[in-house]
Amino acid sequence: MDTAVLKPVPRPGIMDIAAYVPGKEHAPGVARVFKLSSNETPLGASPSAIDAFRQTAGHLEIYPDGQANQLRGAIAETHGLNPANLMCGNGSDELLGLLCHVYLGQGDEAIITEHGFLVYKIQIMGAGATPVTVKEKEARVDVDAILAAVTPKTKMVFIANPGNPTGTYVPAAEVRRLHAGLPKNVILVLDAAYAEYVHEHDYEAGIELVSSSQNVVMTRTFSKAYGLAALRVGWMYGPADILDALDRIRGPFNMNAPAIAAGSAAMRDQAFIAKAVAHNDEWLAKLTKAFEEMGLTVTPSVTNFALIHFPDVDGKRAPDADEFLTSRGYILRAVKGYGFPNALRMTVGSEEANLGVIAAMREFLGKA
Ligand SMILES: *Cc1c(COP(=O)(O)O)cnc(C)c1O
Repeated sequence: MDTAVLKPVPRPGIMDIAAYVPGKEHAPGVARVFKLSSNETPLGASPSAIDAFRQTAGHLEIYPDGQANQLRGAIAETHGLNPANLMCGNGSDELLGLLCHVYLGQGDEAIITEHGFLVYKIQIMGAGATPVTVKEKEARVDVDAILAAVTPKTKMVFIANPGNPTGTYVPAAEVRRLHAGLPKNVILVLDAAYAEYVHEHDYEAGIELVSSSQNVVMTRTFSKAYGLAALRVGWMYGPADILDALDRIRGPFNMNAPAIAAGSAAMRDQAFIAKAVAHNDEWLAKLTKAFEEMGLTVTPSVTNFALIHFPDVDGKRAPDADEFLTSRGYILRAVKGYGFPNALRMTVGSEEANLGVIAAMREFLGKA
């Protein structure tokens, strides 16, 4: 054997995965930058969470609690759940990955939707399984299309509810219809990363459905309304059997101590979340109205971001807008990779950032 040509080779399929590309952070040559590309909150984190984070600095030599009991307790109390049905993760991304690695393998299929969150596809392929993408209907998850795609190989269905980057939601009755139509061995993953922002009466994040079935999990995050994206804190509510299986491969100390402490304090400060949501309500409405008055189309959003569609006119398309806004220091998210080549996603920012984008957008469209 010629040892000179031997080298480590990843499992089949790994090199077919396109690595996740996060939202842009920089605008070269611009002094003041507003990052509105990753759905981060303009209000920061609760002061009590920041305080709890700082207090952990004195004991960085001690391993964290591998069960994150303090954090699971805070979540359980706030949401009225049994802590035995909660698992915390280094961001909800970690939990999505654990689900795929435990329940998917070569030959299995997992269903995702046309404009779905790209992390699902990466984790499905990372587990050696095949992602099956179904169409959405006008940027909304289409339950019938999902049910039509189910085969004996299907093991998992992922929906972000509300969706990213669409901002639309699937009403609770439709989610129940989806669940009712799935075989009992298929796990329905409800990614409710933006649930805190939703007010619609026919919306449910998934707690009721998880509680009443054996094959549904709901994932949540502290990265959006809670303002702890830097710390990586996510959680999952699910049936005991699924959590037990995931626990077997979960890193024993997957949550770090500062994340546990800050997450717990943040969860207990619901008054802060109410303020973040009120800010979002006000500005999502104002931004939507302003863009529509300029002749742009905005997909109706129940989240902290808006999907803005541009005219099909040379010089006024999404990439042109992206370049113009970036040159002014306003960084939005290009969403071509999500199936929207002529749209940009804008996170609701501070008042200053929002007014700045509105003014810059008018200028870009020649309506200043
Ligand atoms: C932001 C986001 C998450 C959160 O991921 P974390 O790993 O918890 O930061 C999950 N799902 C969707 C759809 C998101 O947009």
